[in-house]
Amino acid sequence: MAANPRFTPKMVGIICNWCCYGGADLCGVSRFQYPPYIRLIRVMCSGRVDMKHIIEAFAEGADAVFIGGCHLDDCHYITHGNYEALSMVQLTLRLLERAGVDPHRLRIEWVSAGEGIRFANLMNEFSREIENLGPLGQNEGMETEELKANLREVMRLIPYIKMAMREKLALHLRDDPTAYDHLYSAEEVEQLFSQAPTYEIDPEKCRACMICLKRCPVGAIIGAKKTPHVIDQDLCIKCGTCLAACPDRFGAISKVPA
Ligand code: SF4
Ligand code: SF4
Repeated sequence: MAANPRFTPKMVGIICNWCCYGGADLCGVSRFQYPPYIRLIRVMCSGRVDMKHIIEAFAEGADAVFIGGCHLDDCHYITHGNYEALSMVQLTLRLLERAGVDPHRLRIEWVSAGEGIRFANLMNEFSREIENLGPLGQNEGMETEELKANLREVMRLIPYIKMAMREKLALHLRDDPTAYDHLYSAEEVEQLFSQAPTYEIDPEKCRACMICLKRCPVGAIIGAKKTPHVIDQDLCIKCGTCLAACPDRFGAISKVPA
C-alpha cells in the first residue's frame, strides 16, 4: 500500500534517558535522517511509562506511540524497568484493540546509546507504517470521536486494571521474553471490563465523616457534613480507596461484584 503523501502523522516517542535517548542523540549527531514529526519525550526509564500516558496520547489525537528503552538486561537501574515496560505495552495493546485501535500504532523497541543508525531505521520504518495506516480511525473504520470515547472509557478504568493485573504487570520473564507476546488475551481483557465491580455507600450506615470524600483521588464522592455520601459512578475509577478508608466501625462502603 502506498503512503498517503498528504498525511503527516502525529507520532509520540517516549524514550529512556540512558539508552534510547542516547541512540536518538547519536542519530542526530551522525546526521541520520528520520521524519521530524515524531515528537520525543525523555523519561528516566521505560519502566516509568504508564498505560495512561499511551492511552491518553491516542485519546488526544496521536496516530502512533513509540516506546524506547535499553536492551533487556541492560537497564540502567537494578529494577530492570524495561521488563515492566514490555509487560505494560502488551497489556496496552490488548486494551487498544478493545477500544478499536489498530495495535500496529503502538510499538516498543530497545535501542542502545551506540545504535544511532538503528534508531533512525526504526523511526523511518515505523513512520512509513503509520503513513500507510492513515490518521487514527481511518484504518480502523471508526469515527475519531467514537474511538476517543472508547479510549477515555479505558483510561477511566486504568487504576482498576492495574490493580487487577498487578502480578502480571510486575513479571520479569528473563528466561523467555517472547512469553510476553502471549501474556494477555483479548478474552481476559474483556472479562476485566465485564467484571469491574461497583462501589456503593449504604446511606443507613454512612456517618458523613467525609474521610472517603477526602481520600477519593478523582472527586467521585459527593457529600457534606451530616449528609450521607454518594458515589458518582460516572466518575468512579474503581480504585477501592474509599472501601479501605471507611472506618470499620461504620462499614458503610461495599464492593459489589459485576
Ligand atoms: S472506588 Fe471509591 S475512592 Fe476510588 S474512585 Fe471510586 S469512589 Fe473514588
Ligand atoms: S468514610 Fe464511610 S462513613 Fe465516612 S463518609 Fe465515607 S462512607 Fe460515610
